[in-house]
Amino acid sequence: MITDEEVLQIFKQAGAYLQGHFKLTSGLHSDTYFEKFQVLQYPHYTARICKELADRFRYDNIDLVIGAATGGIIVAYEIARQLEVRANFTERENGKMALRRGFKIIKGERILLVEDVATTGGSVREVMEVIQEQEGDLVGIGLLVDRSGGKLNFGVRTESLLTIQARTYTEAECPLCKQGIPIIKRGSREIAVTSP
Ligand SMILES: [Zn+2]
Repeated sequence: MITDEEVLQIFKQAGAYLQGHFKLTSGLHSDTYFEKFQVLQYPHYTARICKELADRFRYDNIDLVIGAATGGIIVAYEIARQLEVRANFTERENGKMALRRGFKIIKGERILLVEDVATTGGSVREVMEVIQEQEGDLVGIGLLVDRSGGKLNFGVRTESLLTIQARTYTEAECPLCKQGIPIIKRGSREIAVTSP
């Protein structure tokens, strides 16, 4: 079994654990950012961390693994490969999370929802809605990184490989803003302006 410390080591080694002043996808500011694609670009790291999540759900008769584009495509694919089941991913269609490309949940299918890095869990909840609408049976949620320090509660079994309490602030209360430190926008809904 891989420990939180080993997962953090992998993120650090891959250059995915960044410190500075960041604006997250949620709009919150933080001194820590996980540039998950720095890890996901290495198939051996991805396979190793995804194996741990796959193992935690190996005996749950999962039929389908679903992640949200973009990082979730890779995580869902690798976990599904290890569980020998299908992988689908959701994307936004007119701003709403949806299964496209002919992906379809068969009613009652046992589903594992996976996400790379969760802070507020917003996109996880959006994918949960898609699963509910299509009458899938959500068995559990697998997170590579829970940045909430374990405060996320989706009302369903959730396994996270690395639970970390990253400091986040609203723009108004952000001490890094008050110090005049330039902000770096990262994340899928923002354009990366520069690297720290
Ligand atoms: Zn700030």
